Amino acid sequence: MPEPAVVLIEDEPQIRRFLRATLSGQGYRLFEASSGADALVEVASRQPDVVILDLGLPDMDGLEVIRRVREWTAVPIIVLSARGQERDKVTALDAGADDYVSKPFGAGELLARIRVALRHTAGASHEGEEPAFKVGELQVDLLRRHVAVGGAEVKLTPIEYKLLATLVRHAGKVLTHRQLLREVWGPSHDDQAHYVRVYMGHLRQKLEAEAARPRYLLTEPGVGYRLAAE
Ligand code: CA
Repeated sequence: MPEPAVVLIEDEPQIRRFLRATLSGQGYRLFEASSGADALVEVASRQPDVVILDLGLPDMDGLEVIRRVREWTAVPIIVLSARGQERDKVTALDAGADDYVSKPFGAGELLARIRVALRHTAGASHEGEEPAFKVGELQVDLLRRHVAVGGAEVKLTPIEYKLLATLVRHAGKVLTHRQLLREVWGPSHDDQAHYVRVYMGHLRQKLEAEAARPRYLLTEPGVGYRLAAE
């Protein structure tokens, strides 16, 4: 099987150089674009396994690139965004991006995100055989609806379980408040972000050794939540 192909869309030459060294060193096949127009051509012609997209492009808003790519492919899109632009991250995720990395970022962080994205692609082709999820002491068996910490069963309410199961199905990826509300409570609860906060608090009380310093249920400030995957 050929190595995974990555299309990198970024107009800053230094960041492209850095990522070229990082990704080629890991054996990824890398294709580059420095504008939104080139990006659409590269994604269509290379059919990559992952797209890495800078939101600030010279000719086109990165969000527009996401929307156009999403018209015809579910390829994972990891967004690069300047730190502090929480609103942009949320908009990008809600528009169909899978994850984001804030600039400046380390190679290790981006490579971890790429691994998560590739795992989800691989998992999607084996639908039906959802394996038990395990990270640290936490175990979630989606088939048996069984949750345990350190081998001891934890009883969850139906909503708590639904919230946790949603995070497990997207383990390692960030989910916005809106995405969680839609999946757990339904589309009519889009604006009830406090539901998520309250139930995430309950889950942390039940699953974390120290609810105030979570090991599994991580907050992405201003964006949403992420279940640790490793
Ligand atoms: Ca840029």
